[in-house]
Amino acid sequence: MRKIVIAGNWKMYKTQAEAMEFLQGFMPHLNDVADDREVVLCVPFTALVSLSQSLHGSLIRLGAQNVHWETSGAYTGEVAAPMLTEIGVRYVIVGHSERRQYFGETDETVNLRLKAAQAAGLTPILCVGETKQQRDIGETESVIFSQLENGLTGIDQTNLVVAYEPIWAIGTGDTCESSEANRVIGLIRAQLTNPDVPIQYGGSVKPDNVDEILQQPEIDGALVGGASLQPDSFARIVNFSG
Ligand code: PEP
Repeated sequence: MRKIVIAGNWKMYKTQAEAMEFLQGFMPHLNDVADDREVVLCVPFTALVSLSQSLHGSLIRLGAQNVHWETSGAYTGEVAAPMLTEIGVRYVIVGHSERRQYFGETDETVNLRLKAAQAAGLTPILCVGETKQQRDIGETESVIFSQLENGLTGIDQTNLVVAYEPIWAIGTGDTCESSEANRVIGLIRAQLTNPDVPIQYGGSVKPDNVDEILQQPEIDGALVGGASLQPDSFARIVNFSG
């Protein structure tokens, strides 16, 4: 039985005060969450400590949005994996398309970050996905397979989540057809050595499409950007009926 993981990616949104306000609105809905699913909040570094204290003992798992590959060193602006585990972080997003596009993330640095995350006991969420242009010229599979092959070289697949995030669907409202997301995720699974790795879909998941998406047999959860910022919409998403 594969684990279902619903993760919110807050990106560069919410001060600490706003994060605490979110929790006040969101926590009451957690009582309803079925125990077959893990709920994760991937928040800015600055909100991690206070959220970790507030979430202690709750069902919500805390995630970061990036991690460096060294355990310490002269890397101004970076955060190391042991710094995250020390404050109770369990998950980390690695290789999000925004990091690949704006911050020079490559499959090689993704691979290093995955190794460092796992070595510290974090569960990395590896993001893969194609651009609209790559899809239009029939390169979806080859792009994703190459991201997987290079990103996962030497990686232990027992402590891993993969997120299929077609870039053209992120933040656009242009969701991938659920049957197509299911097809691509099936292809991703066939590339993995461990068939039990949870594979999420990400890209404009909202309260009104989450049920259909997560009813697809290959899709084991969602990585949710915009709709994870409001307590009510994220509550509806984590309480999807599958
Ligand atoms: C994301 O940031 O990973 C994402 C999927 O964003 P959105 O849900 O807003 O499309």
